[in-house]
Amino acid sequence: FSLRAHLFCWVMNSSQPLQRPCLTQPRAFINLTESHIWEEISGVDEHYTPIRTFQVCNVMEYSQNNWLRTNWIPRNSAQKIYVELKFTLRDCNSIPMVLTCKETFNLHYLETDEDQGSKFREHQFSKIDTIAADESFTQMDLGDRILKLNTEVREVGPMTKKGFHLAFQDVGACVALVSVRVYFKKCPFTVRNLAMFPDTVPTDSQSLVEVRGSCVNNSREEDPPKMYCSTEGEWLVPIGKCLCNIGYEERGVACQACRPGFYKASSGNVECSKCPPHSYTHQEGAVHCDCEKNYFRAEEDPVSMACSRPPSAPRNVISAINETSVILDWSLPADSGGRKDVTFNVVCKRCWPGPRQCEPCLGAVRFLPRATGLTNTTVTVVDLLAHTNYTFEIEAQNRVSPQAPTIRQYAAVTITTNQAAPSAVTVIRKDRTSRNSISLSWMEPERPNGIILDYEVKYYEKEQETSYTILRSKGTNVTLNGLKPDTTYLLQIRARTAAGYGSSSRKFEFETTFSISSENSQVVLIAVSSAVAIILLTVLLYIVISRSVCQSKHSHTGLPGIKTYVDPHTYEDPSQAVHEFAKELEASCIAIDKVVGAGEFGEVCSGRLKLPSKKEICVAIKTLKAGYTEKQRRDFLSEASIMGQFDHPNIIRLEGVVTRSKPVMIVTEYMENGSLDGFLRKHDAQFTVIQLVGMLRGIASGMKYLSDMGYVHRDLAARNILVNSNLVCKVSDFGLSRVLEDDPEAAYTTRGGKIPIRWTAPEAIAYRKFTSASDVWSYGIVLWEVMSYGERPYWEMSNQDVIKAVDEGYRLPPPMECPATLYQLMLDCWQKDRNNRPKFEQSVSILDKLIRNPSSLKITASTASRPVNLLLDRTSTDITSFHTMGDWLESARTLPCKDAFSGVSYSSCDTLAKTSAE
Ligand code: AMP
Repeated sequence: FSLRAHLFCWVMNSSQPLQRPCLTQPRAFINLTESHIWEEISGVDEHYTPIRTFQVCNVMEYSQNNWLRTNWIPRNSAQKIYVELKFTLRDCNSIPMVLTCKETFNLHYLETDEDQGSKFREHQFSKIDTIAADESFTQMDLGDRILKLNTEVREVGPMTKKGFHLAFQDVGACVALVSVRVYFKKCPFTVRNLAMFPDTVPTDSQSLVEVRGSCVNNSREEDPPKMYCSTEGEWLVPIGKCLCNIGYEERGVACQACRPGFYKASSGNVECSKCPPHSYTHQEGAVHCDCEKNYFRAEEDPVSMACSRPPSAPRNVISAINETSVILDWSLPADSGGRKDVTFNVVCKRCWPGPRQCEPCLGAVRFLPRATGLTNTTVTVVDLLAHTNYTFEIEAQNRVSPQAPTIRQYAAVTITTNQAAPSAVTVIRKDRTSRNSISLSWMEPERPNGIILDYEVKYYEKEQETSYTILRSKGTNVTLNGLKPDTTYLLQIRARTAAGYGSSSRKFEFETTFSISSENSQVVLIAVSSAVAIILLTVLLYIVISRSVCQSKHSHTGLPGIKTYVDPHTYEDPSQAVHEFAKELEASCIAIDKVVGAGEFGEVCSGRLKLPSKKEICVAIKTLKAGYTEKQRRDFLSEASIMGQFDHPNIIRLEGVVTRSKPVMIVTEYMENGSLDGFLRKHDAQFTVIQLVGMLRGIASGMKYLSDMGYVHRDLAARNILVNSNLVCKVSDFGLSRVLEDDPEAAYTTRGGKIPIRWTAPEAIAYRKFTSASDVWSYGIVLWEVMSYGERPYWEMSNQDVIKAVDEGYRLPPPMECPATLYQLMLDCWQKDRNNRPKFEQSVSILDKLIRNPSSLKITASTASRPVNLLLDRTSTDITSFHTMGDWLESARTLPCKDAFSGVSYSSCDTLAKTSAE
C-alpha cells in the first residue's frame, strides 16, 4: 500500500491536499483480473489537471498475471496504429523484502470486427511488445520529488478488421499507467500550387501513395497536379499546378476575384493589374477595363494599353507654292490622343472667290507620296491648275479615330497657284517626207496652263547641233523646207503661253528621202549589187573559216570565255531548256545492256547508242522511274539541261535525252571505271604519283571550264567524278538544289539546306556563300581523297567536330607519301580567306609543271617541313610523356592507325620516339 501511496504522491506531485473527489469511473479500460488488481486512482498532474492512473504493485505475491484491457477502438481507415504509453515503474531493488518483482509489463492487442464487451480470452490477444522503463524510480527519488515518467511508442499493423482492443499485462511489476494515446498517421488535407489534396492515409507498404489534386475554385489545370503521401504522413514531391482563371488572382491558397478597379486578362498566377489610364471597372472579377467616355481602344490594342482618343488637329501649316505645285508642311498635333500611330490625310478643294464656294479637286491632282495615311508631316501636291485657289484640309487621325467619327480634327490652308508654263509636247507625227522637206503635226501639251500663243520648232542636221534653224507656228503643224536630201535631222518643239516657254519635247529624228536621176540609176544599181555580193562573200568566208577553227580546237564555244552557263530555272518552261540544250534521241537507237548503278530518280544502266550514219558508242543511260511527279521529271531533266551546255574533255558529255517516249532517259558517254572514290579504293596504292596527278589535272581542267562558264558545282567530291577506261576523270553530277538532296553525304546545317560538310568551304557552310572559290576548297578535298586512295576526309569525326576544327584553323594532314607540292596545293585550296585560294587555272598550271618535272614529286610532305595546325597531327607533342603506346595513339587521336600498330614490335614509347615520322 505504501507503494501505491507513493505513486499517488508522484501523480499529485504537489503540496495540495490529496482528498479530491474521484472522477466517475472511465469506461475506456476494463480490469480483467477478477480481483481488480489494476487500481484506478484519480489525481491531478503537475498542472493540477485531474487525471486518472491505473496502478498495479503486487510484488508481495508470486505468479502475477493481471490484465487491463481498453474498450473497442474502431480502426476507421488506419492501417498502421501507434500506441504511445506514459508510465512510471518502481525500481525492484528499492523495494525492501519483495518476493517477486518485475520491471516490465506486456502490451497486447486483439483485432475484431465488433466490440468484445466484457468477453475476454487471454490467448486471443497478440503480444505487441514487452515494455520496460528507461528509468525506474526509487524511494529516494520520491523523497526528492524527481519525475521519472517513461514514454514508449509501439507500432501495430497492418490491421484489417474494423477495430481492436489493447491490453496491458502485469506480471508482477510496480507500475502506474499515466496515459495511453492511440493514433494513426495521415497526410492531412492541404492546398499546394492551387490544387487541393484530400486527407490521405498511407498504405502500410513502404511505397508512396500518388494523389491527384483538384484545382481550387476559379482555377484551371495547367499541368495535372500530383503529390505523394509517405508512410510517415508527409506530403512529398508536388508536381504540376493550377492557374487562376482570368479575372481571378492567387491570394493565399485560393483564387480570388480581382477587386473593382483591377483586371486580369490572362490566366496565370499573376496579380490583377490596375486598370490602365482612362479605363475603369466597377465589378469584381474583371477581365478587362472599360474605356471612359470619349476614350477608345483600337481592335489590336492590348487590354493593358491606356484608352486613347483621336488626336487634335495638326498645327502650323505652311505652304510653299512653286507654279502649279505646292509643298505643305505642318507640325504634329498638340495632343496625340495618347497614341503613337498618328497619320495624316490631306483633302484638296478647289475654291472660287466671293462667297466661299469649293468643290473637291479633280482626279488630275497628284499627291506625293500620297494623300492619305501620311506618316510624315509633309506632302507635295502637283499638277494643280495655274492661277487657281485651293484649300487643303490636313486631318490628323489615329487608330481610334474611326470610333469617334464626329470628332474631325483638321487644319486648313488656302493657296493660289502661280502662272505656269505649258508642259512638253509629247506626241509628234511625221505626215509627209520628200527629198527637201518634211511635214509634221503634233498634239497640244497635256497641261497648257493657259492659252498657247505659239510653238517653237527647232531643227538641225544630226551631229550638227550648233547650226540649227528655228520656226514658229501658231498651229500644231509645220512643213520644213530647204532640207538636204538623204539627210537625218533632229527636231524639238516647245509651246509658249503668257507664262513663257514650256519645256522642250524629246528629240525627234527624221530623214529626207533619197532620189536618183535615171542616168545614174544603172550605175547605182551595179554599185549596190556588187556591194551586196561582196558582203555575202565575206559572210560565207567567215562561216567557213570559223567552222574549220572550231573543228580544229574541238571547242563548242569557239571564243573562250564568251559562252556562259544559263540556269535552266530562268526558263519559264523548263522543257524548253531541255530542248534547247539537249538533243532528243529516238528510243529505238538505244539498247540497254545492264544496270550499273542507282541514281535518285531511277536506275543507271550501261548500253549502246547507234545514231543513223554514226558509229555505235557505249553510253550510260539514266532512267526516270515510273510514277514520277511533274517536279521530279523537271528536276531529272534539269541535269541534262545543264550538262548539255558543257563541252569539255573533263566534263561528262551528254549524248541526248529521250523525253517523247517512256521511260524518260538521259544518255551520256559511258565511264567504264565508275565513280572515282570507289575506283581508288579498289586499286589502293596501285598507281604512280604521275598517274594520280594526271587524274587531278583532268579534274582541275574540267573545273576551270565550269568556273569560266560561271557554273558553281557545289558538290565536287571524288564520288561525283567518273573515270573511264583510260583513267580520264570527268566531273559529273550536275543539277540544281537536287544535287545536294541526292547526295547521301549532304547533311542539314543549322541555317537549313543540305550541305556535304566535309567537302564544303566554311563560308558556304556558315552563310551559303557558294562560289568557284568554294568549289576550289572542295577540289582541295578531292586532291586529298585522291592522294589517300579514297580515304574518308576527317575519318569518322562528326560533322560538328569537322566544322569546329576547320573553323579553329585545323586542316587535314598530308596523306601517306603525298608529294609536298601537292600537299601545299591542298593547303592553299583550304585558305580561310577565299580570295587567297588559287584559281582552277593556277591549279591546272601547277599540275602541268609537276607532270613535266616529275622529280619535283619526290619530296614527300612528311619529310618536308609541315605546318603546325594539322588536324590530328601532334608531332610537336613529346612522345616520351606517354606511359603506354595506347596512350599515345589515343592522345594523337590517330585511332584509325591503332590497328596498324598493334602487333608491331614498337613495345615502348621510347622506341617509338626514335622512329621517323614516316
Ligand atoms: P548519279 O545518279 O549520277 O550519282 O549516278 C549513280 C551511279 O551510276 C554512279 O555512282 C556511277 O556508279 C553510275 N554512273 C553514273 N553515270 C555513269 C556513267 N556515265 N558511266 C558509268 N557509270 C555511271
